[in-house]
Amino acid sequence: MREPVRVYIGLGANLGDPAATVRSAIAGLAALPHTTLLATSGLYRSTPVDSGGPDYVNAVAALDTRLTAPALLAGLQAQEQQAGRERPYRNAPRTLDLDLLLFGSARIASPALTVPHPRMAGRAFVLLPLAEIAPGLVPPEWLRAVEGQGVWRLL
Ligand code: ADP
Ligand code: MG
Repeated sequence: MREPVRVYIGLGANLGDPAATVRSAIAGLAALPHTTLLATSGLYRSTPVDSGGPDYVNAVAALDTRLTAPALLAGLQAQEQQAGRERPYRNAPRTLDLDLLLFGSARIASPALTVPHPRMAGRAFVLLPLAEIAPGLVPPEWLRAVEGQGVWRLL
């Protein structure tokens, strides 16, 4: 059996009832095979970046998993499909987006998967919830660079 790897998942939703979708997606992550949910951030509200429609609800979850990165990505995509995800065009509003932010210290560059996630550093809606559960992973200068992006923690 593979050793578990610490991974971080970014969750986002901006259609339907996004807070409820994110909460049930966290439960779905906890139910992935060979995977333990370790921590979840609070929920954040963010105005869309490069995307239209209503505000997003975002969160980040930390997992330990024995799945390979491609198997984990497949599990995430299956959950997006279950939540009714459609991809009519790039950056379209979405019922649920699950991004693999970090997979241990792995660096992956395959056609289907880039890890660390290439756009996480510039996005407050990823960095603020990530810093909440793993402050050591988020350099202070990254946080300073995204100050002013419209992101609020929900109670
Ligand atoms: P985005 O999240 O960039 O707005 P999508 O969720 O539609 O867009 O994902 C598009 C594709 O990105 C997926 O089909 C997946 O293969 C690929 N992808 C590459 N790297 C990652 C990653 N780290 N996490 C999730 N998907 C990724
Ligand atoms: Mg995605």
